[in-house]
Amino acid sequence: SSSSASGLKALVIGGGGFLGRHLVDELLARGWQASVFDVRKTFDDARIPFFTGDLRKEEDLLPALRGIDVVFHCATPAPLSKNRALFIDVNVNGTKTIVAACKAAGVHRMVVTSSASVIYAGADLELANEDVPYANPPIDAYTETKAEQEQIVLDANNDTGKEATSFLTVAIRPHGIFGPRDPHLVPTLATMARAGKSKYIIGNGKNVVDFTYVKNVVHGHILAAEKLTCGSKVAGKAYHITNDEPIRF
Ligand code: NAD
Repeated sequence: SSSSASGLKALVIGGGGFLGRHLVDELLARGWQASVFDVRKTFDDARIPFFTGDLRKEEDLLPALRGIDVVFHCATPAPLSKNRALFIDVNVNGTKTIVAACKAAGVHRMVVTSSASVIYAGADLELANEDVPYANPPIDAYTETKAEQEQIVLDANNDTGKEATSFLTVAIRPHGIFGPRDPHLVPTLATMARAGKSKYIIGNGKNVVDFTYVKNVVHGHILAAEKLTCGSKVAGKAYHITNDEPIRF
């Protein structure tokens, strides 16, 4: 399908990963040009320039950012890591480096992948919207740095009324993502189940958990990017993203 954004050039930081690679595929299908920046070279596709580098290094980012209209930032250390210093270095300091590099390279639009867990403080949330404040304290170091990352990107939003002098940003907050090539959610559940670690019930067994199909998460990112123009209501805001209904067990 064609869209108003066809022909735009995107750089997907973390595009070698699960969500990022699905995003690249869909951007191409919609007539965008897309390239990837990732610390790991995970695939080869003649249509997709692949920049291997560390997002914590501005000098690695700058060549990849040349001529880019929209940056999607969906890189992260593995969420189950216990390495708080790494989360801070990549998600917080690295995101600041990306914002600075975008400005230096003349990129005017940025979509960051945040997480719905930024508002999860440990108690049930049902139909929670974006007015719910960040969890305080956050449940873990990953979530703490996802909230900081989101704030850095949204605080950088600056709509001057002219694209050439603006930096327009939006954050997308998925919860659990599933789909082909999922490295985290389903494999982790399967490993726990095999180890006999999931034979208990939390709450009354009727809890709802929000899992979203990866292509719906991708769709949300692209819609947000397409709306990211001067005067747009989405600039500077965060959006939860989900399937049209929660999955009930
Ligand atoms: P993933 O691990 O598959 O992909 C992340 C990619 O980031 C990897 O390819 C990795 O190599 C890259 N990366 C890590 N550190 C880097 C660095 N220093 N420089 C450059 N690249 C680096 O993870 P994913 O599931 O695709 O997650 C994508 C985004 O979605 C992340 O922001 C994550 O926080 C968010 N998210 C994921 C889920 C989920 O269920 N998978 C849920 C909510 C939010």
